Formats: sequence, C-alpha cells, structure tokens
Amino acid sequence: TAQTPVTRIQVLDARLANQIAAGEVVERPASVTKELIENAIDAGSHRIEVDIEQGGARLIKVRDDGIGIGQQDLPLALARHATSKIGSLEDLEGVSSLGFRGEALASISSVSRLELVSNASEDPTDGWRVVAEGRSMEARVSPAPHPRGTSVSVRDLFFNTPARRKFLRTEKTEFAHVEEAFRRQALSRYDISWVLRHNQKVVHQLPAVDSAASRERRISSLLGRNFIEHARYIERQAGSLRLSGWVGLPTHSRSQADQQYFFVNGRVVRDRLVAHAVRQAYRDVLYNGRHPVFVLYLDLDPDVVDVNVHPTKHEVRFRDGRMVHDFLFSSLHHCLAHTQPHEAAENQD
Ligand code: ADP
Ligand code: MG
Repeated sequence: TAQTPVTRIQVLDARLANQIAAGEVVERPASVTKELIENAIDAGSHRIEVDIEQGGARLIKVRDDGIGIGQQDLPLALARHATSKIGSLEDLEGVSSLGFRGEALASISSVSRLELVSNASEDPTDGWRVVAEGRSMEARVSPAPHPRGTSVSVRDLFFNTPARRKFLRTEKTEFAHVEEAFRRQALSRYDISWVLRHNQKVVHQLPAVDSAASRERRISSLLGRNFIEHARYIERQAGSLRLSGWVGLPTHSRSQADQQYFFVNGRVVRDRLVAHAVRQAYRDVLYNGRHPVFVLYLDLDPDVVDVNVHPTKHEVRFRDGRMVHDFLFSSLHHCLAHTQPHEAAENQD
C-alpha cells in the first residue's frame, strides 16, 4: 500500500532537532559520561568525581572544581551550537580543547532530566542551578550554592525516547562501558585526581600524580599489574612529533584488542592509520590472532591534525598521514626489535 509522499517541507522544532542530534553522540550512559568528563577537563579542573547509579540509567553525575559557568551564561550552556571554546573557523583549525561543537549538553538534555549547578566565583555561598527536562527550551535559573566548579546530573536517560531506552543493556554491561570511558579519560590526564563510584561504592580513586613511577601505579590500578610488568616505556621525538608511553611486550598479549589506548593530543582516538602502523610494528613478534596492549601518547601541533571528522571525535585526520605512520611504525618497531615471539599459551587474558 503505497503512501502519498509528504510534499511539505518543515523546519524541525528545536527539541526534535536536538533529539535527532543526540542520536549521534548520546548512545548510552558511557557516552554521556565521556561528554561530561570532557567538559570538566576543558574547564581546567584538578579533581573530577563521577557518580553512577544503576549503570547510569538512573544517574550520571560529574562534579568538578573547574572555572565554572557564570549566571548569564548558564542558559546558553544548554543551548545548541553554543560554546565558549571556539569563535571562528581559525579557532577550529587550531582547537586544543576536547569540546568545541557546543552540542553535548543540548543533546543530552533533550533525552534526559538534566540539572547543572555551577559557580564561577570564589565565594562558596554563590552558585546557580539550571534544570532542563527532556528539553523545555527556556531553562530556568535559580540560586544554589556550590563551591567553585560545576556539577552536572543526568537522570533517567532516554526517559522520553522509549525506543532508545529499550536498547540499554544490563546494569553491569552499561557500567562496564562507563568504566571504560572513565579509564580512557583517567589515562589521558595524570595531573587530575579522579573518583568513580557506582551505587555509592568507590570503584576507582586515583590521586593526581607527576612522577613516572606513580603514573605506573595509576596504570596498574586501571589496567592491572600484568600490563605494566610486561611493558616498556618509550619516548621518541621527531620534529614536532612526540611519542611517549608504554608498549606492551609480546609476553603479555590478549585475544581481543581491548587494552589499546592511543591518545592524540590528549584525546583518545581509534584511527585506521594508527592501527595499521601498530599492527605492522608487532607483526613479527606476535602470533596471529593475538593483540598487543599499549598506552601511547602522540603529541603534535594541533594545526596539523583535524579532530572535526566525526561528532564523537574518535577519529582524526592528520595533514601528513604518511609521516605520522612512519614515525609510529619506526618507534614501535625499534622498541620491539629485540623481543622474541612468545607462545600464546603464556599469555593471559
Ligand atoms: P562544547 O563542550 O562543545 O563547548 P557542551 O554542550 O559540552 O559544548 O558545553 C557547552 C558549554 O557549556 C561549554 O562550551 C562551556 O562553556 C560550558 N560548560 C559545560 N560544562 C562545563 C563545565 N563542567 N565547566 C565549565 N563550563 C562548562
Ligand atoms: Mg563538551
């Protein structure tokens, strides 16, 4: 039964437009956690606390001690395409903050009950709250004391989009994804102290660290002692490219590629070019079907990498991909050159 095609064109109302946009960045509690943590990092926080209830389906709360948001800016924080991080195309090209699209809070608030409390002053009796439930466009602002910084609480994710709520998995699975998002961020900033709680129980408590030894302690508590015991620390520089971090030795590989952390300018990425360079470097030392583990940091001039490739910003585009690929390959290959292939049986997952 053919339907008559709709011939009238309408502009979507703001709420629906935000809900559609939310489809790109807000997949599950872990994606909300990621966006809120990125905002806390961008705000220059020293301490970030994450509280999760029921795998995040009931509550995702991120509290920081960053610069906060002033009263006048609060309603704008929830508006679409509103950001304090870039103002021009030029800014976008050299962007060094994790966020810049001005979409996360608008999207999240269109599919949840969002409360944001913030204080941009040093006076702890100051502070303002703004609430948005499934997006009532004009968010109301009321006084609410808060120490300098921001707390964002996201309750009842997808309460108004039942089709998407249905796709949430068990509490355990959703929390595992949240924990993974937390892990990535905690591996990206050692100078920040972190707490993750689930149903009021502390899952990770990570003090800020500076020395290499205490970095390894953080990695051990996030990824297990085995990793660091079978890893080699590297630091290499070529021109403006700098690679540092821990290269897992073939004595500790995994059956899945689930412990591979690659950061470009502090942002965790999944990039085909990077993956290829890594695979090539391990080719001779790992058996087929085994996957290396690593925590690596590539730092380069923000002008030569484009992070505006995908809404979740997990993909990047390098201006000189060939050069980056060869630098990675040769650095890792050199590090692994004197290691021998090992029996898969010795490895543990
Ligand atoms: P983006 O991060 O891309 O700018 P968001 O929707 O995530 O977009 O946030 C919108 C704006 O709200 C940010 O640009 C920032 O000014 C403000 N903001 C959000 N979270 C925080 C926070 N934790 N601390 C300070 N400002 C924040
Ligand atoms: Mg953001």
